[in-house]
Amino acid sequence: MPTDIYDPREVVNFSAWPAMLPYECLKELQENLLNFKNTFCSILEVSHRSKEYMELNTETQDLFREVLNIPGNYRILFAHGGASTQFANIAANFQGKQWYVITGDFSERAYKEAQKVSESFVWKREVYEIASGKESNFSQIPSLEIISEWIQKDSTYVHITDNNTLFGSTLFQLPETDVPIIADMTSSLLSREIDVSKYGMIYAGFQKNIAPAGTAVVIIRDDLYEKLEEKLPAMYSYKTLVDIDSLYNTPSTFNVYFSNLVLKWIKQLWWLEVVEKLSRTKSELLYDIVDRSNGFYNNAIHENNRSITNVVFTLGDWGLEEKFLEEASEHWLVSLKGHKKVGGIRASIYISMSYEHVKRLANFMEKFQKENS
Ligand SMILES: *Cc1c(COP(=O)(O)O)cnc(C)c1O
Repeated sequence: MPTDIYDPREVVNFSAWPAMLPYECLKELQENLLNFKNTFCSILEVSHRSKEYMELNTETQDLFREVLNIPGNYRILFAHGGASTQFANIAANFQGKQWYVITGDFSERAYKEAQKVSESFVWKREVYEIASGKESNFSQIPSLEIISEWIQKDSTYVHITDNNTLFGSTLFQLPETDVPIIADMTSSLLSREIDVSKYGMIYAGFQKNIAPAGTAVVIIRDDLYEKLEEKLPAMYSYKTLVDIDSLYNTPSTFNVYFSNLVLKWIKQLWWLEVVEKLSRTKSELLYDIVDRSNGFYNNAIHENNRSITNVVFTLGDWGLEEKFLEEASEHWLVSLKGHKKVGGIRASIYISMSYEHVKRLANFMEKFQKENS
């Protein structure tokens, strides 16, 4: 990669996680870092019990509520440890029958963590796997029709992974069931409009669309809140976190601060409606080239399930892919290598990435194809 970069915006970072953050928010952070809300301390130093931080905490929850249109019967909390920590926490926080739809690597991890909890805890939990796409190596979304037939009515929840970050597929439609749906939306929350009232619980690690890594936002409907396990160590207990306003211990104040900036930035963009249109337009730009070309391939994922945040494709030849990655980085298009379990190329195009950024990749792909066909 060239080292004489004069404008950091020239670099387009397609990393899946941690990922690109909105330039405007980074600039604002840079300008205000040393003086958080006129405390003349930086956000990295102020007390989480200070009036200023407490206000920020409440304001950020309100912003999530406003931007995602979260109804009044849902509670919002910030948990430590990103999304993977929630995999085990969810299973521990609820008793009874728990179902897992396996559409990719993270779904499988969530299921395995729940299994461990069910095996090691003294409370009764039954953990089941349903509709696994493992046979096709997750290249296809499994049929979800069996869900309404199989899941017993008295189950506590069914867990889904909204967007399959490694393979680039998304469950745009929810399974039909009266059992509460818990959704991992780590790589998709804030990228499109959703009807929160259709979910029992939504959670997302921060580091894709929201803020730096290490925190998760958890949104719980009242009926599931009522079912939360009481006898858990405080830091694992969603009940403790809700009841104490996510301030049991020292929260990740910086991450909450940054998510606040991002949510305000989304409001300036005229909300999720616009963000969704942008996300769709950006991903279509790339899928269109893949479909028209005879050199980039994404045959596996059904059109209706193509992710709008992680565009995955191959060049059918490992040597050519190496060349593609090398030349892309010469054009300052970086972190395009697919996950090692999937291979190929992955362009993660979360909300921070502009249309112009994606267009640069599109132009490069067309040029590369002409030169190598
Ligand atoms: C990245 C990702 C995770 C893991 O998030 P961490 O915060 O690193 O634990 C979990 N689920 C999905 C869908 C992801 O994309």
